Amino acid sequence: MRYANARLPKGSQHHIEVEGGRIAALLPISAPPTGKDTIDLGGALVLPPLVDGHIHLDKTLLGLPWVPNQATGNRVADRIEAERKVRASRTLPETETGSNLVRQIMASGTLHMRTHVDVDNQLGLRNLHEILKVRERFRDLVTIEIVAFPQSGVLRSPGTAELLDAAIREGADLVGGLDPVGIDGDLDGHLDAIFGVAEKHGIGVDIHLHDGGESGIAQMLAIAQRSEAAGLQGKVAISHAFALGSVPTDSAARTADVLAKARIAIMSHGPGGATIPPLKLLKEHGVEVFGGSDNIRDAWSPFGNGDMLDRAMMIAYRANFRHDHELALAFEMVTDAGARVLGLADYGLKAGGPADFVAVEAETPAEAVATRPRRKLVVKAGRVIARDGALVP
Ligand SMILES: [Zn+2]
Repeated sequence: MRYANARLPKGSQHHIEVEGGRIAALLPISAPPTGKDTIDLGGALVLPPLVDGHIHLDKTLLGLPWVPNQATGNRVADRIEAERKVRASRTLPETETGSNLVRQIMASGTLHMRTHVDVDNQLGLRNLHEILKVRERFRDLVTIEIVAFPQSGVLRSPGTAELLDAAIREGADLVGGLDPVGIDGDLDGHLDAIFGVAEKHGIGVDIHLHDGGESGIAQMLAIAQRSEAAGLQGKVAISHAFALGSVPTDSAARTADVLAKARIAIMSHGPGGATIPPLKLLKEHGVEVFGGSDNIRDAWSPFGNGDMLDRAMMIAYRANFRHDHELALAFEMVTDAGARVLGLADYGLKAGGPADFVAVEAETPAEAVATRPRRKLVVKAGRVIARDGALVP
């Protein structure tokens, strides 16, 4: 199988030779035609699969009639309460709504994701079991990494620490956390619980941290210290990290150095209503920054579609990126950086690599971020799984 006349992200043009689901060779376009099946890409830009580093497959209401947002206030705690109301009135199980979302994002070129799945003393492991079914259903098409996420807090939802431990035994890959001070009101108690689970199982941690200002910074420094003490360098991420964007630049820079030393990655979804971390500064200080959708059509947000080129544009817009090298950073956040954080060993457009890619009408990744062109083709293991933005039956 040959995908002819592809333009790669760095600008070179090749025929992509596919054998056994992998890229056998990237041939010069002067290479003669073969008798093999050929799809002519006509000079389209070929991108590696998009990576969603933070999604909530169990929360989405995709496929249900429109559900107006129920939150009565603007705090995280208000949204947690609103979600409980919405949860009680769902008429489709999370397996189906989550599958709807996976199908939608595959059609837009996302083949790898990290999903947070709610675990609390009301839900138990119910949502985890639903999303494990989704993972199984799509196992040949997408990789789904699961974070056991204490959405209701750990200490304010007694029994959650034990449930997080059970979630890991039952198939979750990482342990999550949530505003140790803002939600649980106990920095050490919260971190003792989640790092206890992480150390016991030798797994990574991904903590939602909305808390801003100096309190948020202090929590990041504590997370860095815990990560190093537990030998979890390179396995811990902080999602949102709004605090980094709410303190003076020199404070953010000092914090960045601490995060880089502990090899803690920072996830941003380009927040609409909060400060965005200084992405370029973090990158310059050696901190891995990656992107994710976060909430999509759920009790938290009416917005989102899971399209990671749209998301890269939102991140770039919020970060006030304008130059191509800045747009390239937004693109990296939803491709290679996400792949590194998710520990994807088998990723990237290269001879010998998986024949997984996305073709779009653009000259460069920067243009693709700015214009978010329709996905002409999404290819998985050499096979076209989506065309012109729709899954192939
Ligand atoms: Zn989230």
